[in-house]
Amino acid sequence: MTATRVLVLNSGSSSLKYQLLDMRDSSRLATGFVERIGERTSRLKHTALTTGETRETTGPVADHAAALKAVSEELGRDGLGLDSPDLAAIGHRVVHGGSSFTEPVIVDDAVIAEIERLIPVAPLHNPANLTGIRTARSLRPDLPQVAVFDTAFHTTMPESAARYAIDVSTADEYRIRRYGFHGTSHAYVSRETAKLLGKAPGDVNVIVLHLGNGASASAVREGRCVDTSMGLTPLEGLVMGTRSGDVDPAVIFHLARVGGMSTDEIDTLLNKKSGLIGLCGDNDMREIRRRVDEGDEQARLAFDIYIHRLKKYIGAYYAVLGRVDAIAFTAGVGENAAAVREAAVAGLEGLGLAVDAGLNAARGDGARIVSPEGARVAVAVVPTDEELEIATQTYALVGASHDLT
Ligand code: ADP
Repeated sequence: MTATRVLVLNSGSSSLKYQLLDMRDSSRLATGFVERIGERTSRLKHTALTTGETRETTGPVADHAAALKAVSEELGRDGLGLDSPDLAAIGHRVVHGGSSFTEPVIVDDAVIAEIERLIPVAPLHNPANLTGIRTARSLRPDLPQVAVFDTAFHTTMPESAARYAIDVSTADEYRIRRYGFHGTSHAYVSRETAKLLGKAPGDVNVIVLHLGNGASASAVREGRCVDTSMGLTPLEGLVMGTRSGDVDPAVIFHLARVGGMSTDEIDTLLNKKSGLIGLCGDNDMREIRRRVDEGDEQARLAFDIYIHRLKKYIGAYYAVLGRVDAIAFTAGVGENAAAVREAAVAGLEGLGLAVDAGLNAARGDGARIVSPEGARVAVAVVPTDEELEIATQTYALVGASHDLT
């Protein structure tokens, strides 16, 4: 195909992040973001990786349409504009694809209607994602727009893992089930882990631990996700920066009945004021480790709770998979915090799990193995790249649909 560039857009409620990639060699041509959209102090930061030049502008950007126009102008100044014939497609990150979207799709009116129908299960994310899609469509109506869903990789989960044990008709009526998130990261990292082991994805079983500010684990059997820790929403599972992860659902009734809290207050408590920040006042693992090293007991307890939960999921997914070839740590904490990796597998030698202290502590950019030579299970650090995964899926779909690859 002649057009080889893909623009990846990640639209949040008040932000727009973007990357322009050339799919001939997966290289980055430009990257940037607009933040505080709708405020007087919106900020656009654009870096042209072709020249290394960075430009920043501050001033009111009214809405996503204006933001994307500004981004297009910045790209245009580097000869990379949305009107370029080299642009093959725009790939949009869409957080919730429900059960309907098992793969990326080319956006049409029916796709937009379905993403809209899913707003009740993703009230914060899907509307912002839709705004990005609509804006991009209006600017380049002729260009294929592809929606890549955070939930898609998890749609292979068996019913036994995807269903909550609650009344079936109620669950079905309200579409309550475990969807999972961070799917593009879990897909990318599980494949890269197989590559690191010199094997095909279909030949390995991997536990992926995506530990960023949001955090999730997944069990991937022979390239297909069979379980993941996030559920109906990204609140379930691991202890996160500001989210509680798993709690007894009765905590919510208790807070309402005894604490007199409203649904919105409990939502805010569990999503924004819990996890590491709720436990110790910090959600940055660097700061928490610094405090632990200084003997801070509160930070120590937060770290221990975080690790205890992580370990439980490693054990659970080990049991789900039966045989594990690798555990892959990824995202901000997983890629950088050696202390987290070390503590997460400490004492699990019986399961064939250990890190080599030297390898684990060494800094490195690419994917690497940090378990001792000859270990039964490889412990790996695998940097995630959600934008590349979105671009790759987008390009593959556009190429296939035009039969041009
Ligand atoms: P998200 O995309 O969910 O916002 P990231 O994957 O970028 O998150 O991860 C952000 C988190 O990574 C930070 O909150 C911080 O806790 C952690 N982090 C980043 N760098 C380091 C580091 N060098 N050591 C420990 N933790 C780090």
